[in-house]
Amino acid sequence: MVTGANRGIGLGLVQHFLEYDAIEILIATCRNPEKAEELNKLKGDKRLHIIAMDVDDDESIKKVFEEVSELVSSNGLNVLINNAGILLPYEVDGQICRKTMLKQLETNSVSVAIVTQTFLGLLKKASSNVSGEDVRIDRAAIINISSTMASIEKNDGCFSGPMTAYRMSKSALNSFSRQSYMELSKYNILVVSFCPGWVRTDMGGENADIDVNESTRTLSANILRLDSRNNGLYFDRFLHPIPN
Ligand code: NDP
Repeated sequence: MVTGANRGIGLGLVQHFLEYDAIEILIATCRNPEKAEELNKLKGDKRLHIIAMDVDDDESIKKVFEEVSELVSSNGLNVLINNAGILLPYEVDGQICRKTMLKQLETNSVSVAIVTQTFLGLLKKASSNVSGEDVRIDRAAIINISSTMASIEKNDGCFSGPMTAYRMSKSALNSFSRQSYMELSKYNILVVSFCPGWVRTDMGGENADIDVNESTRTLSANILRLDSRNNGLYFDRFLHPIPN
């Protein structure tokens, strides 16, 4: 299941995941499926289920949980990819703006925690269907789409003003990833964070390094090879570790 799948990196991940026969059901969530033209074009593939979800809305999340529970039934949910995210101008007239800072913290970190908590039962169910202690992507996994900007160690001060709230929100997300890893290891659920690269999307802008296809081709392939060696870590799309 991929959140924020109507455009950008979320859409690219869905397009690439559909190339893999091993994936039996792919759930793509987005705020407005009726407006998700590109995503709807993929509907010919019967494995794809498009469901409306606003990750900032608890009622919406609960409704999707009911729908997904019915869809996957006793198989549970193998992989949750928390991709939906925002980047808002953080300053107005050179002043920090409480509202836009809080909104980024909400969508990029708080909502990920709420979505993950809501779907945890389904991830545990998927994990419990497999015997042994192996931790693998095809058992149960939470993948959080973070950013190199989340790294406190690698913060070189670039984009310092406009990116401050975004950086803070993604560092909080990485903290949540680490906490989840510590708590969920006993259920053999894998938890990994990724930076997709600087990508030409509405968020990344037209000057970014790579296009969506280049980012998500590599990212999807590396997501599908994750196992216990990668558990609890934070990577770039090539599976090179990034320090928190
Ligand atoms: P886009 O702005 O292109 O897409 C963002 C996606 O998130 C859209 O599908 C959007 O839906 C969705 N979204 C935002 N808020 C909500 C919400 N409340 N509920 C549901 N969906 C929501 O961004 P990218 O594709 O570039 O970014 C995807 C992820 O990758 C983000 O987490 C981002 O932080 C991360 N990232 C991106 C980088 C880049 O260079 N592009 C670099 C590093 C990380 P809607 O269309 O409804 O607004």
